[in-house]
Amino acid sequence: VSFGFEDVTESEKVARVKGVFRSVASRYDLMNDLMSAGVHRLWKHDAMNQVNPQPGERHLDVAGGTGELARAFLTLADKAGKRRGLDSQATAIVCDINDAMLEAGKARPDNQKWEGRLDWVCADGQSLPYPNRSFDAVTVSFGIRNFADRVAGLREFRRVLKPGGRLAVLEFSHMTVPALQAAYDTYSFNVIPKLGSLVAGDEASYQYLVESIRKFPAQDEFRQEIEASGFSRVSVTNYSGGIAALHFGWAV
Ligand code: SAM
Repeated sequence: VSFGFEDVTESEKVARVKGVFRSVASRYDLMNDLMSAGVHRLWKHDAMNQVNPQPGERHLDVAGGTGELARAFLTLADKAGKRRGLDSQATAIVCDINDAMLEAGKARPDNQKWEGRLDWVCADGQSLPYPNRSFDAVTVSFGIRNFADRVAGLREFRRVLKPGGRLAVLEFSHMTVPALQAAYDTYSFNVIPKLGSLVAGDEASYQYLVESIRKFPAQDEFRQEIEASGFSRVSVTNYSGGIAALHFGWAV
């Protein structure tokens, strides 16, 4: 199955991506664990440590899905507050274009802990419903790959960040050792769609995910895109040999 995304209009791409995630929402966390053997949790953990959440800060998790990064932000901000003897509370917003993903996240029992500090908003990350300079940190994990216009998204993140705010983008990337890329391609093109079919009952959506990973720019090209969108000192951290990479930068 090929979605031929290069041939469709932007609004059609947005509609198709919505369909993909509506279809996988209820099994989403489980599929993530199976596809990456749980390693995605370690990548996210390291990413959030680099973001270094602080008490009183405002965090926006774009394409936040079930809210894993937002909860991690609040947890780490509280820990930092304890260490520093500060009790001002951080807040977080999970923003996603797909209400089914947000509903799956809202249903999680561990949200009770964050009453009044964790918000859920259905919106497109390419056009955020927030004024300029609203947030201290913006994160996007495994979401920007689906944007119809990635650079529009990056500019939007820059707009809503305060100057000096942090941007962290975690995304599937390209292997740093070319010989491993072939083995990884075999795994992803053959195993992942089959796993999607077995666990989530949806082979085509997972086929789309694999294709979109392939089309995403390599680490250095993406770093340059982020810098050109108004960020400085953009660093790249490769995880698991480049299966995923974190791009971290500062809003100018
Ligand atoms: N960030 C979560 C995580 O790491 O587990 C969810 C990642 S999931 C692979 C991708 C998410 O991006 C989906 O929930 C999807 O609805 C969302 N998404 C795709 N395009 C979007 C857009 N233009 N604006 C906001 N969210 C979008």
